[in-house]
Amino acid sequence: MRGLMMDEPLTLAAILERANRYFPRGEVVSRRPDGTLSRIKYAALAKRVRRLAQALQQAGLKRGDRVATLMWNHAAHVEAYFAAPLSGGVVHPLNLRLHPDEIAYIAGHAGDRFLIVDDVLWPVFERFRDKVRFERVWVVPFGGMPTPPGAEIYETLLAQSSEDYEFPECDENDAAGMFFTSGTTGQPKGVVYSHRSLVLHSMAECMTDSFGLSQNDTALLLAPMFHVNGWGLPYTCPMAGTKLVLSGGGCGPEELLDLMEQEGVTFACGVPTIWLGVLDALRKNPGGWNFRGPVRVLIGGAAPPESLIRGLDRFGLRIMHAWGMTETSPLATAGRLKAHMHDWNDDRKYEVRCKQGYAVPLIRLRLMRPEGEVPWDGATPGELEVRGPWIAASYYNAPEAANRWSPDGWFRTGDVATIDAEGYVKIVDRAKDMIKSGGEWISSVDLENALMAHPAVREAAVIAVPDAKWQERPLAVIVPRDGASVAPAELEKFLGARFAKWQIPDGFVFATEIPRTSVGKFLKSQLREQYRDWHKQPESTKKD
Ligand code: ADP
Repeated sequence: MRGLMMDEPLTLAAILERANRYFPRGEVVSRRPDGTLSRIKYAALAKRVRRLAQALQQAGLKRGDRVATLMWNHAAHVEAYFAAPLSGGVVHPLNLRLHPDEIAYIAGHAGDRFLIVDDVLWPVFERFRDKVRFERVWVVPFGGMPTPPGAEIYETLLAQSSEDYEFPECDENDAAGMFFTSGTTGQPKGVVYSHRSLVLHSMAECMTDSFGLSQNDTALLLAPMFHVNGWGLPYTCPMAGTKLVLSGGGCGPEELLDLMEQEGVTFACGVPTIWLGVLDALRKNPGGWNFRGPVRVLIGGAAPPESLIRGLDRFGLRIMHAWGMTETSPLATAGRLKAHMHDWNDDRKYEVRCKQGYAVPLIRLRLMRPEGEVPWDGATPGELEVRGPWIAASYYNAPEAANRWSPDGWFRTGDVATIDAEGYVKIVDRAKDMIKSGGEWISSVDLENALMAHPAVREAAVIAVPDAKWQERPLAVIVPRDGASVAPAELEKFLGARFAKWQIPDGFVFATEIPRTSVGKFLKSQLREQYRDWHKQPESTKKD
C-alpha cells in the first residue's frame, strides 16, 4: 500500500514564499564596503529575486545553466542564491580568494555562462577575465565607480523586469547550487546541491538541537558565502524568518563585536580563527560590548581549542560545535549536550563540547578501517564515512575521484575520527595532517589546541616534518600573544602534563602569523613545504 500524501516538490520557492508571506518585516542587513549598513526586508528581497529570475530568463538562461557570482556577503548575493535556481539555473559562487588561474579553471570546469560581480571585486575579475568566457557580466554597484567596459549594471537589469514574475516549475531533484571544495586537499571538485537537498538541509539546521534558528533570532554569518553554501544560512534564515546580518568582505574583531552589539545578534557562525581574534579583543577591552543576551556561537570548519570555548563563555558567547564539509552541505553533526549531561561537572561538559557532536536527523555515520567497521568506543580511530539526503553522491565531472565513495555508496570524508558510545564524533585529524612517528600516529589538532591554552600563545599550528629515524616528527609553529614571549622549554613542560614524551614536538618555531587558506583555516601544506628541511638545519639556526 502506498502512502496517500501529497507529493509536493521540495524547492527553494517554498522557502522564499514563506519568508515573503510570514516574515515580510524580517531583515537582511548588509555591511557595505565603506562600513555603512544597508537593510532590506524579506518582502522586498522576494520581489527583487523575482525580478532577477526573470532577467536571467530574458538573458537566455536555460534549465541547468550556471550563474557564477564573485561577491562578498550581502543581500544581493542572497538574491542570486535564490534567483538563479528559481529561474531554472544553478548558482555558482566563485571563491574569490583563490589564485586567478584556479578561479578560471573552476569557472571553466563548471561551464559558467553568466557572472554577477561586486564592483569592488572587479579588479579580481580582471585578473582572470581573459581566461574565461561569460556571455553577460552584471556589476553590483557599491562604490559609485563607473561601469567597466563589457559589463552591465545589476540594478538596470532588475529595473527591466517584473516583481510579479512567476517562477517556472522545477523538479525537486534539479540542481540548485554548485560549490567547489576549497582545495585544502588537492584539485578543487564541484559539489552540486539540489533543491530538495537544500530544503531538507535547512530544516535540519532549524532544529533546536542543531542551529536552533527561529524568527526570534538574529544570525550573523561570518563564513564567506562563496564557500560551503554559506553554511546554509542564506536559505535557513529566510525559512525560519530569522533576521540575517552579513558582514560584507569581513572586518576586524572590534568591528564585528560592534556589529553584534548594534544588531542584537543572538547567533553567529564562523571558523575558529575569527573567534580567536574576537576573544583577544574582548580580553583587551572586557567591558567594551554589551550584548542583549547570551549569543550562540556556532563553530565549524576546524576544531576550536578548549581554551577558546572556555574563554568566550566568560563573555556570554556560548560556542556550539558542528562538523561538516562542502560535500555535506555542510551540516552533518552538531554538538549539543544531552539531557543527562547537564548535571556533570564543568570539565566533563567541556570535554563533550570540544567534540564535534552527533549526527543531525537523517544523517548516518560510520568509522571505517581497511579491516572493517570500527566500534564506537571513543578510542579507536577510523575514517569517518557519511551518508544522507544532503550528502554528495558524486562530484561534478570528476570520475577520477569516484574512490571518495565506498562500494556501498558512503562518502569517505578523509577525516580521521573516533565516535563514543553516546555517538559523539571527535575529529582526530585530517588523514593527511596526522603525524606518523615511528609507526604511531600523533594528532596535530590535539597538540595545537593544547598549545593554544598557554597564556603566551595566540595561535599554534603543528605539522609533520620528515625525520630520518622516525619517518615524521611534529614541529610546532607558534604565534605569541602581543608582547608575550615564551621559551620552547616552557612549552615542552606545558605539554608534558598531557602528552607522552614521544608526542611532544621536536621543535617550536616562532612566527608573526600562520598562513591561512582562502577561507581562513591554517594552511598547513605551506608550512610543511616551508619547514620540510627543518631537521637538516644546523641546531643554532633552529631555535628562534
Ligand atoms: P576544504 O577545507 O578541503 O575546502 P571544507 O571547507 O569543505 O574543505 O572543510 C571540510 C573539512 O573541514 C572537514 O573535512 C574537516 O577536516 C574540517 N572540519 C570541518 N568542521 C570541523 C570541526 N568542527 N572540527 C574539526 N574539523 C572540522
